[in-house]
This record gives sequence, structure tokens and C-alpha cells, in this order.
Amino acid sequence: MPINEEQRIQMQAEQEQIRQNIRHIKHHILVLSGKGGVGKSSIAVNLAVWLSMQGKEVGLLDVDIHGPSVPKLLNLEDSKPKGGRDIIEPILFGDRLKVMSVGFLIQNEDSALICRGPMKHNIIKQFVSEVSWGDLDYLIVDCPPGTGDEPLSIVQLLGQADGAVVVTTPQQLAITDVRKCMTFCNQLNLPILGIIENMHGFVCPHCNQRTDIFEGDGGRQMAKDFNVPFLGSIPIDPNMVPAADLGKPFIYYSSQSLTAQALSSAFEPLLQSNKNNGNIEKEQNKMRIAIPLTEGRLSQHFGHCRQFAVVDVDSDSKSIRNKELLDPPVHEPGVLPKWLSGIQVNLVIAGGMGQRAQQLFEQSGVSVLVGAPSESPEEIVEAYLNGTLVAGENVCDH
Ligand code: ADP
Repeated sequence: MPINEEQRIQMQAEQEQIRQNIRHIKHHILVLSGKGGVGKSSIAVNLAVWLSMQGKEVGLLDVDIHGPSVPKLLNLEDSKPKGGRDIIEPILFGDRLKVMSVGFLIQNEDSALICRGPMKHNIIKQFVSEVSWGDLDYLIVDCPPGTGDEPLSIVQLLGQADGAVVVTTPQQLAITDVRKCMTFCNQLNLPILGIIENMHGFVCPHCNQRTDIFEGDGGRQMAKDFNVPFLGSIPIDPNMVPAADLGKPFIYYSSQSLTAQALSSAFEPLLQSNKNNGNIEKEQNKMRIAIPLTEGRLSQHFGHCRQFAVVDVDSDSKSIRNKELLDPPVHEPGVLPKWLSGIQVNLVIAGGMGQRAQQLFEQSGVSVLVGAPSESPEEIVEAYLNGTLVAGENVCDH
């Protein structure tokens, strides 16, 4: 069913609530990994604590719905966030770090939260729209492993994030999950801020010497292959496990150790991370239009198109600010609406498009205009901005 007017108004109200709630957060950084157990949450926690040690105001959001580990890593397991109507207070760790995790909301650590895509999306939406984050320099988001619904939801809800830090281990490097993770970021137009190779080498707890167990430079090579920054490699440090079990962030409590120094130097470039790093600013008068293309012109058959023109426009001055040509992910039902809403498209202008696809776009908050002629993306967008776009018949209604 297409969404009705009431639902559309409700969606707009929700989007406005999110915009208002996170408008004072300067930078959003997602921490991702292809697989579990590579130290992703440890990196996210240490990054958040390190940023707060640099005098930054920081938020740490744990959206790992099925295995939230942030409360344990910060010894906050007994904390319960207070809240009123439409407001949840994050838990404060030290003076400058505000923490929110689904782990605070479940009864005990053994009770897994069983929920499906839309429920997960709603929980994450609440974290973004109702947690009183206030003024933050950085919001660090600890995502669950893999490329599922949660990272997708968070990218959609936050608007354009600064980017993602991808955590991997030497053993994982050859495995497709890491590559999938990088491809996922590319499909969502989410910049990769860098790769951290965790558990590379070993620091002896007795002599504090670092030994490289495996030969090679896999993480650095992978970063080169993907043309993204290599942030650094972190050794296995046996002291990290008891520290994590006691909820003592290693970077703070063992700041003089080789491992803490490796963590600090991996995090240092992220301080420079700048929101205008290739991202569009989300402002009221800016919109993103996507047009399916065949041979450089609007494709009349949405489901068959090989390329999209994604055009950023300034609706005040009615001008085109930027145009990119992107290859869509493999066409499967529901993939294109998710992908296009993930990259912040507000409007799709198409020739022919089936009813089902139109409904899926509406549900993803993306408007659709069908029946446009087979012209170049610039001609179509200019006509749309000038109110002269003549929409004909939807020639491909399947
Ligand atoms: P993930 O979030 O990827 O599932 P965690 O951050 O929960 O992984 O880490 C898994 C385990 O590995 C934890 O016990 C953690 O303390 C440990 N760990 C993480 N990084 C290191 C490291 N560099 N040296 C030693 N142990 C580590």
C-alpha cells in the first residue's frame, strides 16, 4: 500500500524530530567490521574514551542489538538511563562521554533481544531522536558485525555520517566479509575513514616488547587496494582482556603501554576528520535527485537501468551543485529503494516504474515522479526545477 497523507505527515514530523535532536553533533563516525570477535567494540570504546581524553565532547552509541558489549566494556552494566516523555538521558562516563546502548534496556546480559528489521529500525530511531545527546564534537557508533539492517538504519537516520572505520584482523583480511563491508560503505556513499588491523603481532606482558607473529603487511595492502587510509595495526595484548572484563578502557588505564600508544596513533587522523570530506551538507534548501540512466539518458525501464545520475541541487537558486554517476547494486526487490534512501536521495525521477517499486520508495521516504522523457539528467533536473517537466505515461508498469 502506498503511504497516505497522514503517514507522510508523521514521517516528516519524525524526520524533523531527529534533525532537531542531532543538530548539535558535529561529527558522526561509524565503527564497522565484517565479522564478530575482531575487537570492533573495543576499538569503538577506546576511540570514544580517547577523544574525550583530548577534551572533546563525545557520545558513544551501541546499536549492536543482539550483542551489546559497550555497558560491560565501560563497567556500566548496572546503569539504567532515566527518561521522561520522548526523552532518554544517556549515561555519563567520566565528564565528557555520554553513552547509550540497547544493553541498558535489557534485563540481563543473557537475554538476547529478539527483533526483526522494522523493530530494530525503531529502536535505533529512538536512540537518534530521543536520547538527549546535546552538544557533541563526535558521536561514535558501534555497529554490529556485518552489513545488516542496523548499520543501514543508522546511516539513513543520521543523514550523511563523516564515514566509517573498518576493523579487521590479519586472519580476516583474506576473507570476503571485510571486502563486503567495504563494498557496503561504497554503496551507501559512506566514506571509509580508514582500516584498523587489530590483533596484529603480540606484546609480551613481561618485557613489553612487540613481536610480529605473522609476516606481511596485509592491512596496509588492503587499504592500498581499496584506496583508503590505513590507520594502523594494534597488537594482541593479553592485558586488554582482563581490562575489558573489568570495564576499564585500556587507553585510559594503561595509557603508557605500547598497545595504548598504537591505539592513539591510529586514532589521531580521525581528529582531523572533517564533515565536508566529500559529503553533502544536509540543509533545508538542498536536495538530491536520482535518475536511472541508459546510455546517458533517462531510462524508461527502471528495473533494467545500469547507472544512476545522482544530482545535488539547490532548490533556492534552482541550480545544479553536483552530478555523480553511480553504479547501482545488483537489482533485487527492495534493494534500490534501500540503497537510494541510504545515500540520502529525496526524489527519483523515472520513466516507467512498477507499482511495487513505487510503494517501496514511498516507505523509504523517497518521493517518485514517473513518466519523465528520455533526456539527459541535466535537462530533466533543470526542467523539474523550473516547473516545466512534462510527465507523460508510466510506460513500464511492472
Ligand atoms: P567485537 O566487537 O569485534 O565482537 P570485542 O571488542 O568484543 O570484539 O573483542 C573481542 C575480545 O577480544 C574481547 O575479549 C576483547 O577484550 C579482546 N580484544 C580485542 N582487541 C584485543 C587486542 N588487541 N588484544 C587482546 N585482546 C583483544
